Amino acid sequence: MPEIVIVGAGPAGIAAAEVLVERGERPVVLDESRRAGGQGYRTPAPGLALDMGALLGSESGKYRSLHDRFAALRDRVDYRPETLVWNVSEGEVFTLSGDVIHAVRYDALILATGAVDRVMPVRGWQLPGVYTLGGAQVMLKDQGCLIGKRVVFCGSSPLLYLAALQYRMMDAEIAAVLDTTPFAQKLAALPKLAAHPPTMIRGLKYLWKLRQDGVSVRHGARLLDFTGRDGVEGVRYRDAAGAEHSLPCDAVAFGFGLRSETQLADLAGCDLAYDPVFRQFLPKSDADGRCGNGVYVAGDGATIGGADAAELSGRLAGYALLADRGVAVPEEEIARLRSELGRYRRFQQGLATAFAWPSSWAGEIAADVAVCRCEGVTAGMLRKTARAEFGGKEINRAKALTRVGMGRCQGRFCSLAAGEIAAAAIGRPQAEVGRLRGQAPVKPLPMSARLAE
Ligand SMILES: Cc1cc2nc3c(=O)[nH]c(=O)nc-3n(C[C@H](O)[C@H](O)[C@H](O)COP(=O)(O)OP(=O)(O)OC[C@H]3O[C@@H](n4cnc5c(N)ncnc54)[C@H](O)[C@@H]3O)c2cc1C
Repeated sequence: MPEIVIVGAGPAGIAAAEVLVERGERPVVLDESRRAGGQGYRTPAPGLALDMGALLGSESGKYRSLHDRFAALRDRVDYRPETLVWNVSEGEVFTLSGDVIHAVRYDALILATGAVDRVMPVRGWQLPGVYTLGGAQVMLKDQGCLIGKRVVFCGSSPLLYLAALQYRMMDAEIAAVLDTTPFAQKLAALPKLAAHPPTMIRGLKYLWKLRQDGVSVRHGARLLDFTGRDGVEGVRYRDAAGAEHSLPCDAVAFGFGLRSETQLADLAGCDLAYDPVFRQFLPKSDADGRCGNGVYVAGDGATIGGADAAELSGRLAGYALLADRGVAVPEEEIARLRSELGRYRRFQQGLATAFAWPSSWAGEIAADVAVCRCEGVTAGMLRKTARAEFGGKEINRAKALTRVGMGRCQGRFCSLAAGEIAAAAIGRPQAEVGRLRGQAPVKPLPMSARLAE
């Protein structure tokens, strides 16, 4: 029977489900995680004595509220945890639970798939002990483990200070926090950050607390390499004044903001358009997340916005779906949600300036540095292919010739850097080089996967 299907049980997916349940619908909610909550409000594994209240600080109330609300909703939705959606085609989503593949028909699909860390390759980024900022957080929040004893946090991302602070609270030694965005650029972002003062103040508090705790925080750092033989042993960087430094450590957490998870939207037939602020291709939708053909996007999977914006956009997507079915929706609430969401979006544009993606590094990455880890494609191979082969074509040509983005991660981690490197090599804007098209399966399937009988 055709259904309303929601992919993702983070803040956006839960908020969308709430709206639908309030109007008597019973959506199917699919999530590959074991527990609901999404990335930011992830719950620790059962039996783990982790004080989430202390770790989340001022956000702990929202964390509890989201989980309480989902608990109240649970019997009124068809919730299927540990269910990966790996393809969307012709009105069906294809899922994997355990080893079994199911096709789930939908007549309306809300994609609330969130985001992953955005990475610009740095020499040595494949060494054991080098994690993304989000990966370091997942280790802590999901498993209660630290990635190392003496950790360098580096890159530029709203998660940079938060993750470092959470590690400090768990008694990790923070060798330094190296923020790659110059301080002057942070000041330039203030007018847009002022669109949401409480969130801006929260971010400043993270920085202040780290400094109070004696953690060294450097702005405008240029990462040179992560060094070591069998595992990471240090970080080499140039400071804002141009002096080179080496920091010994046994783990690195690095990242440059987030990349929206757009592959399912792509497979569902949504158009994607280049966003010059976030420098990535995002699903084209109206203000409420409507993409057409019964597909809606919400949360970080639509555009990077944070947990509060994800909830607002999830509610809007729920109402859009109902309105498209002829159900009366509360116009006043919708207008308020749109206006609040607009403020968060302006704030996020400020964050994109304050924590800048270092696109200018793309032209400087050494030829032998791996860009696509899965297929072993280096920056040099990409440049050579781009210069020799692109002509009037684009990044998917480089994919065909080098296999960039064709491995296990399907370009989820390398595609944005690969696009920047290819664009820099031929002196064209990244928007013209295009994006790696989504391909099923969006995440690896085991050889043992079999169709449900
Ligand atoms: C690793 C990481 C850590 C973060 N930590 C913080 C933090 O500590 N504090 C903070 O304020 N913000 C954090 N953020 C940002 C924050 O999580 C988001 O802004 C917010 O959670 C967005 O909500 P969402 O509902 O859009 O997506 P999410 O919360 O990311 O939820 C998306 C859900 O979709 C599911 N999903 C995705 N693809 C599939 C698929 N193919 N099949 C099935 N299920 C799928 C995921 O399992 C996930 O549960 C983090 C982001 C990341 C990527």
